[in-house]
Order: sequence, then structure tokens, then C-alpha cells
Amino acid sequence: MTNNYFRLAQQVILYLEEQGFQAYIVGGAVRDAILQRKVEDIDIATSAHPEEVQRIFSKVIPTGIQHGTVLVRYQNESFEVTTFRTESTYSDSRRPDNVLFVSNLQDDLARRDFTMNAIAMNRSLELIDPFYGQQDIEYKLIRTVGKAKERFLEDALRMMRAIRFQSQLGFEIEKTALLAIQQNRQRLSKIAVERIAVEWEKTIRGNYFLEAKKSLFSTGLFQYLPLLNNDKQVEIAIKEIHRPLPSFAVFIAYMNISVQKIAITDWTTQWKLSNQIKKDSKTLVQLILQYQSEALRWIVYQLPFHLSEDFCVLTELSSNHAISMQNLLNEKKTLVIQSRNELVVTGNDIISFFPDRSKGSWIQELLFQVEQAVVLEKVDNTKTAIREWLKNGS
Ligand code: ATP
Ligand code: MG
Repeated sequence: MTNNYFRLAQQVILYLEEQGFQAYIVGGAVRDAILQRKVEDIDIATSAHPEEVQRIFSKVIPTGIQHGTVLVRYQNESFEVTTFRTESTYSDSRRPDNVLFVSNLQDDLARRDFTMNAIAMNRSLELIDPFYGQQDIEYKLIRTVGKAKERFLEDALRMMRAIRFQSQLGFEIEKTALLAIQQNRQRLSKIAVERIAVEWEKTIRGNYFLEAKKSLFSTGLFQYLPLLNNDKQVEIAIKEIHRPLPSFAVFIAYMNISVQKIAITDWTTQWKLSNQIKKDSKTLVQLILQYQSEALRWIVYQLPFHLSEDFCVLTELSSNHAISMQNLLNEKKTLVIQSRNELVVTGNDIISFFPDRSKGSWIQELLFQVEQAVVLEKVDNTKTAIREWLKNGS
């Protein structure tokens, strides 16, 4: 907990205090420090207004001024510094319509979703815990700050957040909160899909995804996730997932293979996902289909490195022969070439081997055959060998 990142946060707080403001570490960093989990980002709440924060620190990025947030860069680390606030009026269970700055920490903590996320830490790393978050952490309970129903009606995304924290931490959702999710689940349909997607990705990646999945079904909240409603096949496929998934792309690839009538683009459009996720999902599906019939080396060669783990997990979910990361990396290490750039011949070489033929798509086709033959070690990666191989009708 007293690692370097926290020490720098203490200095940031000191700067703010020297200017007469209050400042505390808040939110996920405090929770994760108590749990001795890895702390990803440190958020700081302060009585200083955004303009004042910008004045005090020399390197700042005004990331969300309208919400009172300034990103402070200090000694190569980033801190989200947010002015104490409440979220005043909520219409239709969505994001707050406007942000109201307040002067004290207590009000800022009271607007937070769960007791474990409503603990503050001062510059001496002492905890300020008005909602007994530490006790809930000890009992592994996800409990709303205040009445569950009211808090979920204020912002329906919190229902999804309860599920994702269950998935990440393995905590139980406290009884009245679970009931409130069940009774108010339809409110999730008011929430922007991009916000739901952020929580869903964290949910599928969580170590306790299977437990979270049970809550998702027992409360009926899953019906309000894009494309998960009203389809028995989809429901069965999700229920059959027996492990956490490393990425959204794996989830989509698995769903597309299990329920083919729903295309990858349906998933990515409905969930408003990036082109990168779409591309990765398509690559994974193509390769898992080839995996059934083609040599492993050829699959491994085509697999982009960043999809290595995704592919291994997908073989576990959607094929009858799982491959381990170790096997996959061993196979990759022994490949003769890692990419087409390493092939000794180019399109021009292919043309020169067959001077009588006019140009056409056959050049790319032959090049592809050469690439595959070299990877599968049917021919050496030398010009003479490849030339011979092609001349003999490949
Ligand atoms: P993670 O480690 O995944 O980032 P986190 O707890 O930091 O978890 P964030 O989404 O980064 O979660 O939010 C930071 C803090 O802001 C939370 O700990 C919580 O106190 C508060 N918060 C975030 N979203 C909401 C919300 N919808 N309603 C109320 N409070 C929220
Ligand atoms: Mg966070």
C-alpha cells in the first residue's frame, strides 16, 4: 500500500493542502489497497475547483471539466483529481443532468455507489469510512450507500456495476440490493449502451464471472443486455460458458460460433463496439473454423500475437481440442517465418519464374501457396527451392 504510486498521491494531496484545500484518495484505489489487490488508478477528491487544480499543477489535462475532473500528471504518474460533488437531478435513471460541487468530503462519499467504494484515505493514509465500507469488505458484501432501490433508480448502471464487482471480487451482492435489481431491472434499458459495455467487459473478465452470471440470471438483468434477451439459444450459450473470458472479442467470437444466426456485426453494432473488436472477433472465428481441419502451425502463423490468449481460450470453449498458451508459443517459436515479409520471394519473383504468363490474380494465389508451403515446411525458404517447387506444379 505504501508503494511509490501512493507516495506520489500523498505529495499531490500535500500540494492541494498547502493551497488551503482538502484532498483525499477515494474510490477503487482505497478499496483495492484494503483488499491488497493491484491498484490501477488513483483518484483524488478535493475541495479545489477544476480551475484551481489547473493552476496548482503544471501538467494537467482537462479530461472532464464539466464533471469537475482534471487529470494531473505528476512524476510520470496520472491522478484523476475531481472536485467534491453530488449528482443532483437524475432524469430517467440516467447520468446526472448536472453536477453540483459541494464543500465537504462526506457529501462526495454519499453519492458513491457502494460502501466499499465510498471510503476515503487522507494524506497519512488513514481511512475515513462513514458508511462502514471496511466492514462490508470484511464480510465480502456489495452494499449500496443508502437505499438500494433509490440508488438504482438514480442511476440504473449501478445494477450492472454490482454484478461486475461481484465478478471481479467474488463478493456477494447484499440481499436487498439483489432484490432491488430484480425489481428495477428494466431501468437498465435507459442506460447508454457504451456504459453498459464497459461494465460487461469487466464482468466477463472477472475471476468470479460464473458467480456473477448466476446473479445476472437470477435477477433477470441479463434480459436488458443488448442481444441477450428473448433468445433461448443465446441464453443456453451463455450458461455454458464455464470460465472467465479474456476479452470482448472472445465473447463475440464464442457467441457467433454458438449461435450462428447472429452475425459478428450484429454484436458489434448493438453493443456499439470499436472496429478493432470487430476485426479481432472476425479473425478469431476464421481461425477457430480452420483449426478444426488445418495444421496447427498454419493457424499459429496467421494468429496475430495480441490474440494468442484469446485464441487459446476460444479453443477451450468452442472446439473439442483445447490448446494451451505454452503449446501455442512453442509452436510459434519454431515457425520458419513469422510473417510474409520474411518470405524470400515477392510477387516480382513469381512473375520472373513464369515470364510467359500475363499478369493476373494468379500471382497473389501462388504467393499465398508458397507462404503456406514454407510455413508447413514443404519447401525451404530459398529462391531456388521455391522456384523448383513451383515449376514442378507445387
Ligand atoms: P475500477 O478498479 O474498475 O476502476 P473503480 O471503483 O475505480 O473500479 P470506477 O468506475 O473507476 O470504479 O469509478 C471510480 C469511483 O467512482 C467508484 O469507486 C465509485 O466511488 C464512483 N462511481 C463510479 N461510477 C459510479 C456510479 N455509477 N454511481 C456512483 N458512484 C460511482
Ligand atoms: Mg477506477
